[in-house]
Amino acid sequence: MSPTATPDVPDFDTVIVGAGVLGCALAHRLVGTGRRVALLDRRTVGSGCSGHAGAIASPLARNDRLRALSAHSRRWYADYRRQRPDAPLRTLPIHFLCAEGNTDALRERCTEPLRPTPEAALPPWIAVPGDTVVLGGPEALHGQVAELCRVLTGSAGVTVYECAPVLGWSGGPGAFTAELSDGRRVRARELVLAKGSWLAAADLPPGAPPPRTKKIVSYVLDLPAGPADPVVYLADHDAFLLPRPERGQWWLSITSPEWDCHPDDVPAASPDDLRIVRAVLAAYAPAAVSALRGASVHCDSYAGDGGPLVTTAPGRPVVVHGGSGSGFRYAPAAADAVLGALEVSR
Ligand SMILES: Cc1cc2nc3c(=O)[nH]c(=O)nc-3n(C[C@H](O)[C@H](O)[C@H](O)COP(=O)(O)OP(=O)(O)OC[C@H]3O[C@@H](n4cnc5c(N)ncnc54)[C@H](O)[C@@H]3O)c2cc1C
Repeated sequence: MSPTATPDVPDFDTVIVGAGVLGCALAHRLVGTGRRVALLDRRTVGSGCSGHAGAIASPLARNDRLRALSAHSRRWYADYRRQRPDAPLRTLPIHFLCAEGNTDALRERCTEPLRPTPEAALPPWIAVPGDTVVLGGPEALHGQVAELCRVLTGSAGVTVYECAPVLGWSGGPGAFTAELSDGRRVRARELVLAKGSWLAAADLPPGAPPPRTKKIVSYVLDLPAGPADPVVYLADHDAFLLPRPERGQWWLSITSPEWDCHPDDVPAASPDDLRIVRAVLAAYAPAAVSALRGASVHCDSYAGDGGPLVTTAPGRPVVVHGGSGSGFRYAPAAADAVLGALEVSR
């Protein structure tokens, strides 16, 4: 305990509010620098959007910033897998189905070369439409994100406070205090807000663009999945089919058009969601329509260009938000960006 700490107000180097994949990757990174970290969550570690994701890190990126974040994160995950072969991460082939006229745009978005791939590499229930080509070559990384959050924060340097919503903060750099719902307080010289879609406009410095949220939907397909099955990315629909051999299922993830939902009241899967999913399956896998089962629905925080943003302002906590449907994929790069911001403000 530091000289300023009291038994009632424990003292840390850094308090992180929010134990989703962004907060957990950051906690892991900060412990690596020798910091003592308190990780606070209103529910449990990985219980937010991160607990609902069957996530992949794909090799697609829509601009140079996101390409750099993606490459950084891929290197980081590769190193982490070498250190922790037991981490819930695995690589698998990713094959793209793309209309012939859209392949140049797809190649431009892809960080790795794509080559024509035989249809035989796809699951037998996929029926490739006449004007569509199959491209492959790269690998995707699949993470069981909720479990990954636990593994990342399992070290002695991270003190986890669960079921402890943070109601507010006071102080400033060098001496922040976070106020918990049960009246406890936790002190630290650095404070980071990683509240995902719970982030409010008031958490950001005045003048910052307000945070937005968007619904994400995955449908379960009751079709046998094996460890050698590929991710099938439907490039013209921004949707993908993910084999989940550990569950004996496939998941179809789509981008829902519903914006600004509240994470405590995420709308259930809607007739529109089902219509989109059925239309996608009818086009590429008509035999799979009857295998549609339940859905996994949550909302994510979205920021400007489709990747996480780190916001700093004098006297305020560092804020990281904007998983934008890709928070697993960009979490390590976002953690390093927060670390950079903390070092600058020291
Ligand atoms: C179905 C689905 C499929 C997805 N597929 C992919 C994919 O293929 N690839 C990919 O990269 N990403 C994917 N995502 C998105 C990815 O899961 C998210 O971007 C990521 O989990 C967001 O992490 P986060 O840490 O920002 O937010 P969250 O995981 O929501 O974490 C925020 C945490 O903050 C806590 N919190 C909030 N307010 C407070 C408070 N006041 N006090 C204390 N704690 C608080 C919450 O309880 C929560 O645990 C998918 C998501 C879903 C739902």
